[in-house]
Amino acid sequence: MWKESALKILKEYFGYDSFRKGQEEAIENIMEGRDTFVIMPTGGGKSVIYQIPAMLLNGLTIVISPLISLMKDQIDSLNEMGIDAVYINSSLTDKQIQQNLMRVYNGECKLLYVAPERLESQSFVHELMCMDISFIAIDEAHCVSKWGHDFRPSYRKIKSFINMLENRPRLLACTATATPEVKEDIIELLSLNNPDMYFTGFNRENLTFKVFRGENKDNFIKEYLKEKGEESGIIFTATRREAEHLYNLFKDKYKAGLYHAGLKEEIRRQMQEDFMYDRINIIIATNAFGMGIDKSNIRFVIHYNMPKNLEAYYQEAGRAGRDGEDSECILLYNSGDVQTQRYLIETTTLSPEKKSKDYANLRNMVDYCYTSQCLRKYILNYFGEEYSEENCGNCSICNEENQKIDATLEAQMIFSSIYRVRERYGINTIIDILKGSKNQRIMKFSLNKISTYSLMKDYDRKYIDELINKLIADGYIQVTNDDYPVLKLTSKSANALKGNEPVYISMRKAVEVKHEDNDLLNKLKELRKEISEEQRIPPYVIFPDATLREISRRFPDNKEEKFLNIKGVGERKYEKYGERFETIIINYVKENNIHIDNASEMETAASSRENEEAKPKVKTHYITYELYKEGKDLKEISKIRDLTLLTIQNHIFQCAAEGLDIDLDSFIPEGREEEILKAINEVGASKLKPIKEILPEDIEYTAIKAVILKHNY
Ligand code: ADP
Ligand code: ZN
Repeated sequence: MWKESALKILKEYFGYDSFRKGQEEAIENIMEGRDTFVIMPTGGGKSVIYQIPAMLLNGLTIVISPLISLMKDQIDSLNEMGIDAVYINSSLTDKQIQQNLMRVYNGECKLLYVAPERLESQSFVHELMCMDISFIAIDEAHCVSKWGHDFRPSYRKIKSFINMLENRPRLLACTATATPEVKEDIIELLSLNNPDMYFTGFNRENLTFKVFRGENKDNFIKEYLKEKGEESGIIFTATRREAEHLYNLFKDKYKAGLYHAGLKEEIRRQMQEDFMYDRINIIIATNAFGMGIDKSNIRFVIHYNMPKNLEAYYQEAGRAGRDGEDSECILLYNSGDVQTQRYLIETTTLSPEKKSKDYANLRNMVDYCYTSQCLRKYILNYFGEEYSEENCGNCSICNEENQKIDATLEAQMIFSSIYRVRERYGINTIIDILKGSKNQRIMKFSLNKISTYSLMKDYDRKYIDELINKLIADGYIQVTNDDYPVLKLTSKSANALKGNEPVYISMRKAVEVKHEDNDLLNKLKELRKEISEEQRIPPYVIFPDATLREISRRFPDNKEEKFLNIKGVGERKYEKYGERFETIIINYVKENNIHIDNASEMETAASSRENEEAKPKVKTHYITYELYKEGKDLKEISKIRDLTLLTIQNHIFQCAAEGLDIDLDSFIPEGREEEILKAINEVGASKLKPIKEILPEDIEYTAIKAVILKHNY
């Protein structure tokens, strides 16, 4: 029966219709009195897992949380929904603390947030000991472990506090990051009693991962910000100097803020607050920014430089999209970033083993920037998780911003050079050899005598560098993890060198940025901001972005039921804000002549708008494919879609390249396939024109493309 109540609470207060993956099971476990261990990625919805039992159970629930800002955020959110909760931490005066304790003591409030340090205070613990505590939730439980990234000594005192209680409450440990060591530490150091584990995986489905190499970073960001309009985002730089540089570049055009450890405390706090309250929408920061940032509607995180390892990257990038909405994580890479990070490792006084581990982690980070594999899969594998899908369809590798090219020949030249210098040199020397450089080193060691010397003299140095790095990332070449990294061959490259297997790599196509523009949405955001300033709570606490977006599509204008059907609108929030939002909607509907006479029509209006919006998301070549599958020929499709025949042909070939079922033979004239194949083998498949030129006039481009695709060139 608690299940019904739990769902009712979820709907009434939180405004959600159903539980997310893992939530219901974990709540059930808690309700049945067992200890529970939840590992969920950021934004997965951990707080509901303790907030709902807190409302269902009879006694007090204590939530132990490491950061004042996190606590404040949660309490604000709860109060906004109409749930009574208080916190006690060093930001309050003694009087406020007493008041809050009284409310808890009187049973007015069943949910108490505290920082772990508080539990070291004898007097405080005594106060708690005479209360009926049913449940203790330990948020960010990895803080208990020295292996975790933000160890907090006072987390270790939690156990002795619990031991002091007459009746041991059920416990819940929550975290987003848990390696096996950390997991064991948490269970042991908190004395969890044979806890049931809920692990939903580290995948953050709503995040799109993108890597761009060799971009003009400043220009890239300039263009990107233009597209993104008012959306919130963070740009991380490696150094204060770079942060300042970008800030100066953008501060006049955008509502941008700056944050690094070199700024005065006061300025930093102001910047952080302005960002939280959407007074500025971009923050340019070093990694000093972040701890305690709980802003949930961050739509993009750009890394101006590559960080030192994937843990750091995933954590920083993971600040995007905590509200579960689509968000982007972009890494702008250039090879200078590796030098910087190598230098930082080199100049530390770490033990050789630790250094070597850091180099290995750095290499994994670089490989992420060069891999031809799905980026999500790469990250999850790195964290030891299997990703069952072949492709995520939501990263810069899976999306068609990359294309596969055959690099067998070039790869062979590179492998062969490494082989011929007996795997004793690093990347730059290998490039020197291939480029035919006459520098000192080459001459001194007679490397100009190597048979691959100057074989790639016509290639750009940068391109060779890129290629080698890709080959490293894809496991063809190995790099030693020390101060003088040397390239070595692997079994994979040995195979390719023998000519047994072709080498394909994926290369970048073009950038595409999407931006949602919606007048009503902007108006709703403005109102949210206004309320935020009045109430002194961040905008995303009032309504998440997703809620505003849904409102902007469905125009819930006057009927309470309509508004309450919007995701994220609970009863209390409707009471508080419904009317003000409705006024905007009504005006908007009037001004734009949108007719909504009854519920069913509203649905139609909503769904047709939704379709409109969805259009760019359904990739255009799939629409062509649908028509093709219906048996229409390309000319017909071209007419129906009002697109040129050439475009339709390209769509079809794109589908074929993606492995969809296309009859490629229908594009190849009878008996001409051999001839075309021969031409391709002669001049290579990377460009069509040279192939066309050596073939008879009557062979069309489509035929050549079809043959290339059919034979997987
Ligand atoms: P975490 O603590 O795991 O980082 P939160 O508890 O802050 O995540 O939840 C992230 C977001 O997901 C919040 O905006 C929250 O309101 C939303 N959320 C949580 N549970 C649900 C649900 N069942 N349905 C829809 N949204 C939810
Ligand atoms: Zn992917």
